[in-house]
Amino acid sequence: MASTKSPKRKLKIVMPYIILIGIVLVIFGIGFLIGRLCIPTKAIDNTTQTINSTVSTTDETIAETEPPIEWLEFRATAYCPCEKCCGKWATLRPKDENGQTIVYGATGIVLQSGVSIAADTSIYPIGTVLEIQGFGEFIVQDRGGSIKGNRVDIYFDTHDEAVDFGVQVVKVRVIK
Ligand SMILES: [Zn+2]
Repeated sequence: MASTKSPKRKLKIVMPYIILIGIVLVIFGIGFLIGRLCIPTKAIDNTTQTINSTVSTTDETIAETEPPIEWLEFRATAYCPCEKCCGKWATLRPKDENGQTIVYGATGIVLQSGVSIAADTSIYPIGTVLEIQGFGEFIVQDRGGSIKGNRVDIYFDTHDEAVDFGVQVVKVRVIK
């Protein structure tokens, strides 16, 4: 009797565990199925992203061969240190040891023809390098009351050069 009773008792004790394991397995099974159902769509998304990033990388590679910065349309004028261009400031210029007039811009930088331009320093701070298409690179070293937005004023040593330049519509891009 004892030998037949013992396995039944054991079964009674073990049964809840078997049921529990069964439930756990079913839950895992459902979880696995849900996981499997979700993974393919995620995988597709990832593949799409990979393709997109590959495409954008290719675009960037192409872009690098071209100038990376866009050209903007500016109205360019020119000025020199004379009274016509600079008004009262022209009469207040100091001279160096050789008697040469030193031309300071509004921020105290000594202006140089072929280097200095005035720009809207709220957009292009002092020191910004701008390329003017067809004229080369210049450094923002001055500002002016009327030089706002897409405007540059190019510094020349002589009034004749400034007059020759006149007013031109130019393409400008920021170098740094
Ligand atoms: Zn002038």
